[in-house]
Amino acid sequence: MTTPMRLFNTLTATLETLVPLAPPEIGFYACGPTVYNRAHVGNFRTFVATDVLRRTLLRFGYRVREVMNVTDVDDRIIQLAQEAGQDLLSFTARHTRGFEEDMATLRIQRPEHMPRATEHIPEMIALIERLTARGHTYTADGSVYFRIASFPDYGRLARLDVGGIQAGARVDTDKYDKENARDFVLWKFKSDEPPWAQWEAPFGRGRPGWHIECSAMSMKYLGETFDLHVGGEDLVFPHHENEIAQSQCGTGQVFARHWMHAKHLLIDSETMSKSKGNFFTIPDLLEQGHAPDAIRYLLAGAHYRKPLNFGIESLQHAKAALERVHGLVARLDEVAGEGAEGAAVDACGEARAAFDAALADDLNTPEALAAVHGLVGRANALLAESSLTRAGAARVKAELQAMDAVFGVLLPGGGEDRLSPEEQALFDERQQARKQREFARADAARTRLEAQGVVLEDTPQGTRWRRRR
Ligand SMILES: [Zn+2]
Repeated sequence: MTTPMRLFNTLTATLETLVPLAPPEIGFYACGPTVYNRAHVGNFRTFVATDVLRRTLLRFGYRVREVMNVTDVDDRIIQLAQEAGQDLLSFTARHTRGFEEDMATLRIQRPEHMPRATEHIPEMIALIERLTARGHTYTADGSVYFRIASFPDYGRLARLDVGGIQAGARVDTDKYDKENARDFVLWKFKSDEPPWAQWEAPFGRGRPGWHIECSAMSMKYLGETFDLHVGGEDLVFPHHENEIAQSQCGTGQVFARHWMHAKHLLIDSETMSKSKGNFFTIPDLLEQGHAPDAIRYLLAGAHYRKPLNFGIESLQHAKAALERVHGLVARLDEVAGEGAEGAAVDACGEARAAFDAALADDLNTPEALAAVHGLVGRANALLAESSLTRAGAARVKAELQAMDAVFGVLLPGGGEDRLSPEEQALFDERQQARKQREFARADAARTRLEAQGVVLEDTPQGTRWRRRR
C-alpha cells in the first residue's frame, strides 16, 4: 500500500497527485552538480529538498529510482581544467568527490544512479541523430542547433510568450550563426578546444551541450516517459524547457509527467553572490562552527516552494529546535517506570497522522516538523507529571525514529557512532558499486575504509560497519 501524495506540478501550475506509471515505483530525475567548484548552500537547498522528497516517498511505501546526473564537461570545466593543467577526468574527479562529501555531511541519500555526462556521449549522439532525422536541427559553423520554431509547444513549462521568442531580438547571432536567438546548441564545436574535450560523432567532432545531457541520461535510466523531474527554480528556463523540447521532439512521447522546482535560498534576505561576500559552501559553514545537523534541519524544514532565508540567526533557531528534540530523546532513555504504554499511544498516533498528512500535502515540511515538536511537547508534559512508563517512552522514541527516516537529524548521534562525511561517501560508493556489480570498485572503497579503521560486515539485513579497536 502506498500513501497518495500531492505535489505542485510546474507544468500545470496545480497541485496534483503523483501517480506513478509503474506502481509502486516512482522514477525521478534530479539535475545534479556541474563539477568545477564546490557547490554552495543554495544548491544544497534543492538537493536536500530532493532528498526529503525521496525519503518521504520511501516512507509512503513507494519504491524509488532516482537519477542525479553529474555534468563533467562544459565551458567552465574545460577552461578551469586547462588553467590547472589537468585533463577532464582528473580535474572533475576532485570536485565530484567534494560534492559527495557534502552530500554525506548533509545526510543526502545516494540516488540509485549518478551518471556522468562524459560516460553517456553515445546516448547523446543517438538522440541528436533522432532529432536530425525528424527535422528539428540544423548545423552552423560545425555546431548542431535545435530549431525552436519546429516545436510549437515550446515555452509551456516556463509560460513564455513564444511569439515573442520567434520575433525576439537576435541577441547573440554574432557568436553563433543561429537562425533564431533562442535556438540552443545540441553539439558544440570550437576549433580551439583541447582534444580531451572533443568526441567523434557522425555530424563532426565536438562535445554535447548541457541540455542534451539531461535528456539522454534521464531517458536512459528512466525510459522515454517518466514520473517526475526535479530541480531548482532557476533551471525552469531555459534548461528544463529545452530538455522537454529535445526529448519530446526526439521520441514523439511525453517526457517527464510531473515537474517539481525548489525556490531560491537567500542569505540574510539577500541573494547569494561572491561579490557580496555572502557565498557559502558547506565546508565554509562547518568551519564557522555550524553543525551539519542544524544546516540540514534548516534546509529541510523550510517549504520548498517558499524562499528560504538562511542566516546565522536561523541556524541558531534550527540548533535550538534540534536540541529540544535531542534533549527529549536523552530523557526518554532514562525513564524506568513499569506499566503499559498509556497516553504515549495516542500522542504518537496523532503526531504520526499530522506528520504524514503534512508531507502528503505538497511536502509541507514545516507542518511535519510542527507535528514532531507537538509530540516532543506532549512527551515532555507526560515526563513532568511522571506518567510516562518505560514502554511509553520506548514508543515515543520509536515514533521519532520513524519520523527521522525523513529528516535524518532528529535523533542525537554525531561523534563516535556515525561515519565522517568522507567515510560515508566511501561507504555509499561501495554500496553503489556492489549494486552495479562493479566489484573492483567496491573492493577499492572497502580497502580505503579499512585503511581508515572502518571494518565492514555484509549481512542479509545489509552492510554493517564498526571501528577497529
Ligand atoms: Zn538537467
